[in-house]
Amino acid sequence: MSVVTDLQRLRDSLAPTDRMPVVFLGHGSPMNALEDTSFSRAWTELGQSLPRPRAILVVSAHWMTQGTTLVDVSAMPRTIHDFYGFPEPLYQMHYDAPGDPELARSVAALLASHHSDVDDTWGLDHGAWTILKYLYPDADVPVFQVSIDMGRDLAHQLEIGRALSELRDRGVLILGSGNVVHNLRALRFGGAPQDFAVEFDKLFEDRLTVRDFASLADRPKLGNLLRMAHPSVDHYLPALTIAGASDARDDLTFMTDAIELGSVSMRSFVFHAR
Ligand code: ZN
Repeated sequence: MSVVTDLQRLRDSLAPTDRMPVVFLGHGSPMNALEDTSFSRAWTELGQSLPRPRAILVVSAHWMTQGTTLVDVSAMPRTIHDFYGFPEPLYQMHYDAPGDPELARSVAALLASHHSDVDDTWGLDHGAWTILKYLYPDADVPVFQVSIDMGRDLAHQLEIGRALSELRDRGVLILGSGNVVHNLRALRFGGAPQDFAVEFDKLFEDRLTVRDFASLADRPKLGNLLRMAHPSVDHYLPALTIAGASDARDDLTFMTDAIELGSVSMRSFVFHAR
């Protein structure tokens, strides 16, 4: 099937709706899935206030690929318990929403110029399901993941967001899940936030607010501060995807903004059409 045909099928199959918001959530610890926290409560409230999507496309920090962007076309994405040493009840949790293979294939076509491909082996990692269980507790909205290509520069993820943004007009909720600051080597249990964490978090807030996304994707300019905030950029990239999927017509709302354990920012944000 050609790319053009797939794109046409996408446009034909989803009737135009009001433009959907795009959402980035800091997911933090998998324990948020089990515990009543300020974050889990915020996610519940967000789910109740968002327009109901026809499908959810999740870009999670935990699906990393090299040289390609994969789109999960599973009919029933499995729940992946991709963490170690947590309480047993966390491993018993499942999020049994259906996938949307047809839409997912169309998304792979939409990203064809970004080395995309389809995949049916992934499912929903904890970056996705620990949040979705609060946003849509009935698991009745089709959901599928898109991977992050770790082999490209930061600006690539802005471009992916830009390419995905047309889905907003077709009832698809684009959800990024990561953390604006994520350095697990610098955790402080019970301690104050690390200086670099406060500094990067603030820089991110400032640059995002004025839509200076180029600065947020400029590795040389971000320099050592980026290396401290993100020894690996996996948790940062989904925030750039969401920035890329926004446009100048959107309003920006920040949600939770605490720094947990000294070096994990829970800053979350929503771009929504005026
Ligand atoms: Zn994570």
